This record gives sequence, C-alpha cells and structure tokens, in this order.
Amino acid sequence: MHSPMFSLEVFPPKRDAPIGTIYDALDGLEGLRPDFISVTYGHGTHADRTATARIANTIRKDYQIPTVAHLTALYSDEAKIDDALDLFTQAKVSGVLALRGDHLDGLEPSGVFAHASDLIAYIRERKPDLKIYAACYPEGHIESESLDDDIAHLKTKVDAGASHLISQLFYDNADFYRFLDKARAAGIDVPIEAGIMPVTSAKSVLSMAAKNNTRIPKAVSAMLDKWGDDLPSLRAAGINFAAQQITNLVANDVEGIHLYTMNRPGTARHIWHNVSTLFSE
Ligand code: FAD
Repeated sequence: MHSPMFSLEVFPPKRDAPIGTIYDALDGLEGLRPDFISVTYGHGTHADRTATARIANTIRKDYQIPTVAHLTALYSDEAKIDDALDLFTQAKVSGVLALRGDHLDGLEPSGVFAHASDLIAYIRERKPDLKIYAACYPEGHIESESLDDDIAHLKTKVDAGASHLISQLFYDNADFYRFLDKARAAGIDVPIEAGIMPVTSAKSVLSMAAKNNTRIPKAVSAMLDKWGDDLPSLRAAGINFAAQQITNLVANDVEGIHLYTMNRPGTARHIWHNVSTLFSE
C-alpha cells in the first residue's frame, strides 16, 4: 500500500518583517520529512514574485527539499506571468500552484485571466514540462453556488492541465470525504491532498472561517469556548485535534496531507511528532 504524501506550506515574511525571518521558520521545520514545501504568493498590490522565487530557491538549495511556487492570475497579464515562470524555473521549482486569487476591493482585475483554469491552460502551453497544481474546496469555494458547481469548475482545471490538487482547510473530515466522493464521481482522477490548518488562536479560526465559509464543528467550537482566552491550552488542543484529523484521514487512505504551517514551526513539529510514523520514509 502507498504511503500518503506529506507537504508543508510557508509564506514569504510580511512586508514589514525582515526576509531573514523565513530562515527561523525553515530551521524550525528541520526533522520533518515533507515531499515538498509550497511557498505562497502575495496577491494584488502585495504581489512579489521575486520573494516566492527566492524562498523556493533557498528551500531547495539549503534544505534540499523540493518546492512548489504559488502564482495568482487575476491582477496579472501574460508578461508578468512569463516573468514569474522564468524566475520559478531558475529557482528549479518542481511545480507551480496556479491560482486565480481573491477579488480585492478597489482593484480592477487585469482582465487577462478570469479563472485559475485560464492560467493553467496558459502555463501548460508556455512550460509544458512544469507540473501544475491547483486548489480545491471540500466545502465549495465561497463564491460558488453549490459544491457540485464548484466541482464542475474543478474538473475544468484538471482538464486544462492541473495534475495535483491541494485542498482548502476544513475541520470536519466528513466534509472532505463527501467532496472526495463527488470529485471522483465527476471524473477527477488526480491526487488530492487534504489541507490541514491547526487551530492556534480563536481570532484566526474565526477570521479564516468567515473568509472561506468553513464550517466550525462542535469539537472545534467547544475548544474555542473553553480555551479561547488561554492560548497555550488552545494550542495544545489544536495540535491534538490536527493530529487526530490527520490520523483519521490517513486511516481512510487519503493521498496526501498538506499542512499549513503559518510559519509556526513549533506547532508543525508537534503535529509531525504525533503522526510521523503514519508516513513512511
Ligand atoms: P478558481 O479555480 O478560478 O475558482 C474561483 C471561483 O470561480 C470558484 O467559485 C469557482 O467555482 C469559480 N469558477 C472557476 N472556473 C470557472 C469558470 N470557468 N466559470 C465560472 N466560474 C468558475 N491566494 C493567494 O493570494 N496566494 C496564495 O499563495 C494562495 N494559495 C492558496 C493555496 C491553496 C491550497 C488554496 C486552497 C488557496 C490559496 N489561495 C491563495 C486562495 C485563492 O487564491 C482563493 O481561494 C481564490 O478566491 C480562488 O482561487 P482559485 O485558484 O481556486 O480560483
């Protein structure tokens, strides 16, 4: 039987933080054995393809871990995408996670790439050898009318050239299994990694849930009620909860786990400590 994949996600340090803080995060992830680390992409006015490319390059060279660079399309044109793809190729990324990106207030989309599928088709043509990843949403994307509708659009992304999917966070595995059944029934046959974001603070859970329409199950709301004002206890409970989620997913044969580290290596390390034996060398 195949061992599931395990991947991590980091983000470039915020504008006002020194770029070197990423080294603390990466050093702290030492000992984890991910199949790859993905590096997010600042969107709209925060777009800085050089930061994503530089960090990906560092991870590959200094930590010998394969990388995936995220790339958003909504506020880009062909020239900017070409530029980013060249930088990512120089950084020897092993793939690109092609995204539309969120609509931002007061910023007019460039009108070149309306959906992630447009970017995927473009990358397929420009860099036929580059592996293309795409995002998926176990509870449906917040703008979509229904989960079925969103899965139909997901199929378009796969048909356009995405060969690996990474899911948005979710807190109830039943939602992921329902999504998986529907995706497979729709003919989506590429690997799908389950995105796990540990609960570390009530504020971040509530804001992520509101932004993405993520359902907060009773088990999580009970944790927030009891330890919402007690960060160390909430973090400990969040680590246990994430480890249980991962254990259940692996027991049910998911193809991979994508851990959103939020650049908090301590939390990621604790979770890994609890689940590492589920992933073979
Ligand atoms: P799309 O696939 O284009 O979908 C967006 C909406 O349009 C959905 O409702 C979909 O159903 C609908 N749709 C898609 N195709 C069509 C079509 N042909 N016709 C009509 N409707 C359609 N954001 C960042 O800014 N930077 C990042 O690094 C980043 N990384 C992420 C990583 C992961 C794993 C995930 C899950 C999300 C990430 N995001 C990131 C957030 C992402 O940009 C947003 O969720 C965004 O709103 C949607 O991007 P998408 O690529 O899924 O869009």
